[in-house]
Amino acid sequence: MAAAVAVPLAGCLPGPRRKAARIVDAACVRSWLGVVATRLEAERDFLTQLDAAIGDADHGVNMHRGFTAVMARVGAMEEATPGQLLKTAGRTFVSTVGGAAGPLYGTAFLQAGEALGDAASFGPRLLLDALRASLEGVQRVGAAAVGDKTMVDALSPALGAFELELRMGGSLETATSGAREAAAEGMRATVPLQARKGRASYLGPRSVGHQDPGATSTALMFAALEQAVVADRSQRFAAGARRRGSGT
Ligand code: ADP
Ligand code: MG
Repeated sequence: MAAAVAVPLAGCLPGPRRKAARIVDAACVRSWLGVVATRLEAERDFLTQLDAAIGDADHGVNMHRGFTAVMARVGAMEEATPGQLLKTAGRTFVSTVGGAAGPLYGTAFLQAGEALGDAASFGPRLLLDALRASLEGVQRVGAAAVGDKTMVDALSPALGAFELELRMGGSLETATSGAREAAAEGMRATVPLQARKGRASYLGPRSVGHQDPGATSTALMFAALEQAVVADRSQRFAAGARRRGSGT
């Protein structure tokens, strides 16, 4: 990953001709938040079971409570930019979720929202900036490095894969797909690790052999991102076909 950072990004990104199919707007961000909320509801008990093994059995409940509040809050925002939506999600998370996940995910969303600024829509390069800002925020608050058996073990490789895919000339879709795969791999790689941060670290060697709950919820968010981006592209494609069909 360090070598990849040295390669300039300009020149490999999508040209203006295909830009329309490769942007993320507020509707797509809302759709992503909605997919995360739905998946968290489905995985709530699984996440809580993972946390029961090496923590205090509340991660699924925490995440579900946080995202239920996020959906209510952003649902009430009629006009909002992607950055405003993410900053609201971050503030809501901080105020409704306790424990480690509240401030960590809250900071990640807030920082991503800040990185997007006032843009009404954004492409993969700005999304990369937002992901980088999220990781920096999580590490500033939690001081965890890769290998400490935390959400960073999913977030950091996902960011690396996203960036690498863009440098290789990939699209928003292939970059989000690569990020989803890397996050899931990072999540699975937490199993043999001994926790060095968070509640699980109190268990010492007994934390070995269990998948980290936070890395699991982070992998879920990247799977939801890919799903939202692909669904958005299909909708744009269908809308374009309808417009062409009606001759407008
Ligand atoms: P708590 O541990 O306070 O009960 P949660 O159960 O909601 O909070 O979240 C636990 C998850 O938070 C862990 O599985 C881990 O991924 C993540 N986590 C804990 N401490 C840190 C940290 N310092 N940096 C990054 N992530 C952390
Ligand atoms: Mg917990």
